[in-house]
Amino acid sequence: MSTRQSSYPIACPRCGREFDATLYDVVDASDTPEAREELLSRRLNRVACPSGECGAAFAVDKPLVYRDPARGIFLHYEPVTERRGFDAIVKDFSAATARLAELIPGDVVAPTLHLVTNASEMMERIFVLESGLDPRIVEQIKYMMYKANPEDLPAREKLLLFDPAGAAEAPAGDAVEEAPVADLRFIVQDVKTGKLERVLGFARENYDALASVYAGDMAEVLEEWFPGPCINGRLRFLQDEANGELDGDDGFDDEGMRLE
Ligand SMILES: [Zn+2]
Repeated sequence: MSTRQSSYPIACPRCGREFDATLYDVVDASDTPEAREELLSRRLNRVACPSGECGAAFAVDKPLVYRDPARGIFLHYEPVTERRGFDAIVKDFSAATARLAELIPGDVVAPTLHLVTNASEMMERIFVLESGLDPRIVEQIKYMMYKANPEDLPAREKLLLFDPAGAAEAPAGDAVEEAPVADLRFIVQDVKTGKLERVLGFARENYDALASVYAGDMAEVLEEWFPGPCINGRLRFLQDEANGELDGDDGFDDEGMRLE
């Protein structure tokens, strides 16, 4: 599968003018590294209104397949809309991947297909996979952070976004100093305002400790907690909370996850 673009009819959100725009359907990072750059800096599928008086520039949120064969990354993005909700997207994706699995010969290892349903999550997943981290463990860390900090980090109101960047690019604040570059970093984003509020660090040695636990006896548990295709610690936390299942012992001490 290589990079592909098609033409779409667009209506300008500011002035209503209708025009056709060429947008990406598939980005293959080995084909078009510049499209990967655009995607990771939020410039992909941005268009400008052709009306001279208007000139509005905006991003078009549409489905996208992202592929990076060199890094073994294969990802499907479909935004949740009013017409198509999260459950419908997951159901159709699961059916499609099941059909695909039947076509692949038994001795061929099928690539892991990731499903993401918002643009931030798409970028974040690419960053996690490019960093060589296991997305299930990263999402499990978020789950534990939400669980240990119900007051400071209400899951309903705050997103945790994995941040691959160094300290210099992070929003200023006291919390930054507590998070050395070598450690994992998460940006807290307010769901309603979109504001980036603080940076939380998670020690790399603790990630490595979790990774070794989940590589052994607990591998199946992790698989059970995040069966896919959508791996999302916040959604799992909200589901468990709604079902009254948060008290279950996940084998880890909350103490170390508490924010100062
Ligand atoms: Zn316009």
